[in-house]
Amino acid sequence: MNSMHGFRPFWLEQALRDEQAQPAPPLAGPVHADVCIVGGGYTGLWTALQIKRQAPMKEVVLLESDICGAGASGRNGGCVLSWATKFMTLCRLFGLDEAARLVRASEQAIDGIGAFVREHQIDCDFRREGVLYTATADAQVGSADAVIAELAAHDLNSYITLPVDEARRKSGTRRTLAGVFSPRGATVQPARLVRGLRRVAIEMGVRIHEHSPVVAVEPSAKPRVRTTRGSVEADKLVLALNAWLPQLFKEFKRTIVVVSSDMVVSEPRPELLAQTGLAEGLAVLDSRTFVYYYHSTSDGRIMLGKGGNTFAYGARMLPVFDQPSPYEASLANALGELFPPFAGLPVAASWNGPSDRATTGLPFFGRLRDHHSIFYGLGYSGNGVGPSYMGGQILSSLALGKDDAWTMSGIVRGPRGHFPPEPFRYVGSLLVRGAIRRKERAQDAGRVPAALDSALARLADAAGKADHG
Ligand SMILES: Cc1cc2nc3c(=O)[nH]c(=O)nc-3n(C[C@H](O)[C@H](O)[C@H](O)COP(=O)(O)OP(=O)(O)OC[C@H]3O[C@@H](n4cnc5c(N)ncnc54)[C@H](O)[C@@H]3O)c2cc1C
Repeated sequence: MNSMHGFRPFWLEQALRDEQAQPAPPLAGPVHADVCIVGGGYTGLWTALQIKRQAPMKEVVLLESDICGAGASGRNGGCVLSWATKFMTLCRLFGLDEAARLVRASEQAIDGIGAFVREHQIDCDFRREGVLYTATADAQVGSADAVIAELAAHDLNSYITLPVDEARRKSGTRRTLAGVFSPRGATVQPARLVRGLRRVAIEMGVRIHEHSPVVAVEPSAKPRVRTTRGSVEADKLVLALNAWLPQLFKEFKRTIVVVSSDMVVSEPRPELLAQTGLAEGLAVLDSRTFVYYYHSTSDGRIMLGKGGNTFAYGARMLPVFDQPSPYEASLANALGELFPPFAGLPVAASWNGPSDRATTGLPFFGRLRDHHSIFYGLGYSGNGVGPSYMGGQILSSLALGKDDAWTMSGIVRGPRGHFPPEPFRYVGSLLVRGAIRRKERAQDAGRVPAALDSALARLADAAGKADHG
């Protein structure tokens, strides 16, 4: 993201204030690399790190248009989650065995991130205190029952239903009517994590070039990418561009919907946080279609976010994604309603960012136009902080030409569905968003939503429930 106007989301600003790092030099002139990675978010950096771990002699060059962490990775909600709640979708797409493997791998990813952060002393407030899915309206109660039963039937379940009082206490709000808890979840200061990955990647010999936007890719057996001032010819090319990929390759335009997730964070008020009772470091998500997600920070703040707000026509990148949130007032209001001790206090900051929603609610990976040397991965659908570690495992295995569980997985066989073309997709998105908002307002007020609104909202659920971000 190019912050020409100087805006940086709260987390990134906080991370940059603390660190001594100099910007990595822009690419100048032609260079050669064994592997070239485009995109300096979690996916690109985990890929680089996992290549260097397995094959330290490989020359890896990473190109980032702005600075590492300027995209979704430096501005997300910091809820680190597994794919356990996606188990049924995973079974439908990939079959039972692979679904079970992916659920386990997504849980191990959380541990993998924790271990990496400890090993390299990345100071990013990583707290593995679990995840709590709550219901805040009668209609949401029991919405996780079916998937928990399936997980249990296959010995994969880590969720327990909490007594209502405990769910209310842990979530810090009287609004909670029910809750299921799993210890397999964490929270993190997301920008410190991505900046920490950048630091370790440089230490391990990855050549990072920031302020080096890729403007063209020449696909061939030895692909070449061009930036404004240089070029890289590589044996393997990894495109880790997330919501930006459709800008370089039009064939991805219908594989994702680009939609904002919006966030506010309070001032540090540890005494008020203690009054709410919100459990430290716990990720909390309610069970709406456009979920509220929140957690505390170790300096006594509460961060609250909500997905599904600003839709981009034609999967374009809108300037508003790099500005304070247009939904700041309603989010600040929701923060006060959920946590009365914070009601009426000004928030410290608001921001938003582009989320890449795939039709399945899961990312997809593959070979660009069947080229055997160009790989991509995108579509995390608001659940990417934990799973992008797997993205790194998948893309490093592909780039190293391995024959393993990752390169054999159905998840590397490209997109599993396409959205309708424009203008139908945009109009449809707004219709569904309106229906979801009316349905949620009705349920919040204890009313039965209109049948048409419920039917339209189900379309979004069918397309992969919006997890969080
Ligand atoms: C506001 C928000 C809240 C979210 N909350 C959560 C959450 O709580 N939990 C969760 O699990 N997930 C959440 N997500 C999703 C998660 O942040 C993403 O899935 C994850 O960060 C994706 O990482 P990435 O590396 O694939 O993409 P990114 O971090 O977006 O990286 C892509 C990079 O490519 C760069 N780039 C773009 N164009 C070019 C170019 N032409 N040349 C070179 N570089 C280029 C960008 O600047 C960017 O740095 C949220 C997302 C958003 C936007």
